Amino acid sequence: MTTGRRDLLTSTAEIALRYLETAGERPVAREVSLERLVEELGGPLPAAPTDPAEVIDLLDRGADPGLVVTSAGHYFGFVEGGVLPAALAADWLASAWDQNPAFFALSPAAAAVEEVCRGWLCELLGLPETASAGFTTGAQMANFTGLAVGLRRVLAAAGWDVDSDGLFGAPEVTVVVGEQRHATVDRALRLLGLGSRHLVAVPTDDQGRMRASALHDVLGGGPTLVCAQAGNVNTGAFDPLREICELAHERHAWVHVDGAFGLWAAASPSSRHLVDGVELADSWATDAHKWLNVPYDCGIVLCAHPDSHRAAMTLSASYLARSGSRDGADWTPESSRRARALPVWAALRGLGRTGVSDLVERSCAQARRFAEILSGVDGVTVLNEVVLNQVLVRVGDDDERTRAVAAAVQSGGAIWLGTTVWRGEVALRISVCDHATDDAAVTVAAEEVLRAVHAC
Ligand SMILES: *Cc1c(COP(=O)(O)O)cnc(C)c1O
Repeated sequence: MTTGRRDLLTSTAEIALRYLETAGERPVAREVSLERLVEELGGPLPAAPTDPAEVIDLLDRGADPGLVVTSAGHYFGFVEGGVLPAALAADWLASAWDQNPAFFALSPAAAAVEEVCRGWLCELLGLPETASAGFTTGAQMANFTGLAVGLRRVLAAAGWDVDSDGLFGAPEVTVVVGEQRHATVDRALRLLGLGSRHLVAVPTDDQGRMRASALHDVLGGGPTLVCAQAGNVNTGAFDPLREICELAHERHAWVHVDGAFGLWAAASPSSRHLVDGVELADSWATDAHKWLNVPYDCGIVLCAHPDSHRAAMTLSASYLARSGSRDGADWTPESSRRARALPVWAALRGLGRTGVSDLVERSCAQARRFAEILSGVDGVTVLNEVVLNQVLVRVGDDDERTRAVAAAVQSGGAIWLGTTVWRGEVALRISVCDHATDDAAVTVAAEEVLRAVHAC
């Protein structure tokens, strides 16, 4: 007899709870090869059905050695973010309800949740209250969307209809980026047909901030996109957004801000100054799956020009009943997709303004504490100004030793952090954006790093 739905979902919830309740004691990551996991999870395609409870059991056991514990407070690699319980629960409902936010008719509920989140996000992030919002897979696609809207708009202003004529014979578009932009900006521009050779990379200072004076020199009068950054992925530093927006708008350029995690600085009074002037930009990209601590995936694109946003993204077909209401497909390059705003709604509804502000402030305070502990140690140097949640650390004056420390920390399994190359030097890269990272977690993490420093 096959396991019924109620028993299956109840036992699956138990598996999830067992994982969550023991995640803090598990190795953060284990050394395991793809081949071993594939062997465990693979084999020939089954010829016949399997009981669903057995399927979930096989998945649990097969995936287990390859799970990376990013949400128990001990993960400092990349820029990951943990998971708020309310957001996780809402994510479960998004699957159980199986809602498709592409069109209002497909899910009035998902449309309403997206509209509510749009308003809350504008308020929280200090953006114009009428800005439009689309819920994407991540900041990668949010960058793509914002830049696509901008490209269409600056070409339209030059009398060019990119929708019908594409880029063939179009007026040349100047694309201005910072030297320290995120790699997803390059990919977004590549996919938009703008190539990499034509990008104008503005020099940055020692923290990776675009030099506004240098921006001044490269802005011409023609169609121009300027891609600014709120939160450098290494240092956490911010481009001078007010100056960039003012200079760019004098020349009628479109300003897109990549603020995958940095945009959240706006949510806390103690870091809001970092994004001064951000509301002047034309489009913004951010993530909910990083600092807002919702489960993967959710990025958000916001735009100060809703008509342009919708016109650039919309699609039509005779069988698509349009409501004149909110249709999610108008705001992202996707059609059918997951109702990924549901966990965003739950996170924002649960935390409220002070909750989000506290989350941001706590991460920044933990990053500063981590930096303070390490900078007190002989031979260890903190390379960046810790203005947000990112810390760069060099051990000795030695690339190899710094790499060895990272490897030793990783194989210890108690915490995880990665490396980067900052201004030609290898550094440990520490990111704090999990709500579960508390004083104790940072104390343990700093001890792990110090143990590795002494051992290497
Ligand atoms: C993480 C990040 C991105 C890409 O975001 P995804 O969520 O991985 O798509 C873009 N820009 C910056 C600054 C980031 O930190």
